[in-house]
Amino acid sequence: MEIALFTCLSDNYAALLRDEATGTVALVDAPAAEPVIVELERRGWGLDVILVTHQHHDHIEGIPSLVARYGAKVVAPRLAEQALPDADRFVGEGDIVEIGALRAEVWETPGHCTDHVSYHFASEKVIFVGDTMFTMGCGRIFSPPPEKLHASLQRIAALPGETQVYSGHEYTLANARFCAHVEPDNPQVAARLKSVEAARAAGIPTVPTTIAEERATNVFLRATDVAEFAARREAKNRF
Ligand code: ZN
Ligand code: FE
Repeated sequence: MEIALFTCLSDNYAALLRDEATGTVALVDAPAAEPVIVELERRGWGLDVILVTHQHHDHIEGIPSLVARYGAKVVAPRLAEQALPDADRFVGEGDIVEIGALRAEVWETPGHCTDHVSYHFASEKVIFVGDTMFTMGCGRIFSPPPEKLHASLQRIAALPGETQVYSGHEYTLANARFCAHVEPDNPQVAARLKSVEAARAAGIPTVPTTIAEERATNVFLRATDVAEFAARREAKNRF
C-alpha cells in the first residue's frame, strides 16, 4: 500500500492510498477537490473510490467535483445517508471494503459525531480514524455522552503498537501543549512536545502517528476512566 498524505483547506488532511498490485486508488475524505486533483495529476493516478469517515463539511465538500471528474465510487457511513444521499455504498460495523487487493474493515467509532467510522487495514497495520483521534489528541464531542468517544478511543488504542494512525487534521502542536500541561512530569510527553515543535516549525506533518506513541503521550487515551477522559476533553475545549 502506497499512501500520500496532503493538506487541504487550512488544517485538514486527506490521504490517497494505492494498491500497488492492481493500481486501484482510494481517497480518504474529501475536504476540497482542488488539492486532491493536483496530487492525483502529479502522480498520474486516477481515483476509484472515496472513503468517507463522517459527514462534517470539511470531510465531504470535494466529493461532487471528484465524482464528476473521475467517476469515483463513494463509500460512506450508513448514518451519514441524509448528508450523502448519492453515495454508492453505505457501510457500518464489520463491513469489508476492498481497494483492489487491499481490505479494510469498517469500525463504527462514534463520539465526535454519531455517524463516524474508521477504516482499518489490518494486514497493512494502518487505520484511518478521521476526527475520532488526532496525534496527541481526540475530536470534540458532538455526540455525547463522552462514554462513546472514550470507548472508540480505547478500541483504537488496543491495536498493535506499530499500527499507523492517519487522522483528519494537523492539530498536534496545540494537542502536545495540552498533553504537557496535563502530564508535566511525563518525560515522553515533554520530549514529544519538543519534536512536534521542531516538525511544525519546519512544516513537516505530524500525521501519521503510531498506537505505541499515542499510548505513551496522548492524555485522552491515558485517562484512567471515562470521568477523567471527559474532564480532560472539557478542559481542552477551554485550554
Ligand atoms: Zn469532524
Ligand atoms: Fe474535521
